[in-house]
Amino acid sequence: MPDQSTQGSGRNKAKKRKNNNPSACVCPRCGFEIEKTAGVNCRSIKCPECRVPLMGK
Ligand SMILES: [Zn+2]
Repeated sequence: MPDQSTQGSGRNKAKKRKNNNPSACVCPRCGFEIEKTAGVNCRSIKCPECRVPLMGK
């Protein structure tokens, strides 16, 4: 549990992203990773190994 009492309020703004690398697409199966192309959805790219759509990391 993070210690919130010492930080006061308003310090956690805009920290809601769970993607630490939004510029990559990853295969949910084997972990294959590819650099994300701007404007291209990860789901439109398929893993060359598993043939499943990639996901945003
Ligand atoms: Zn894969």
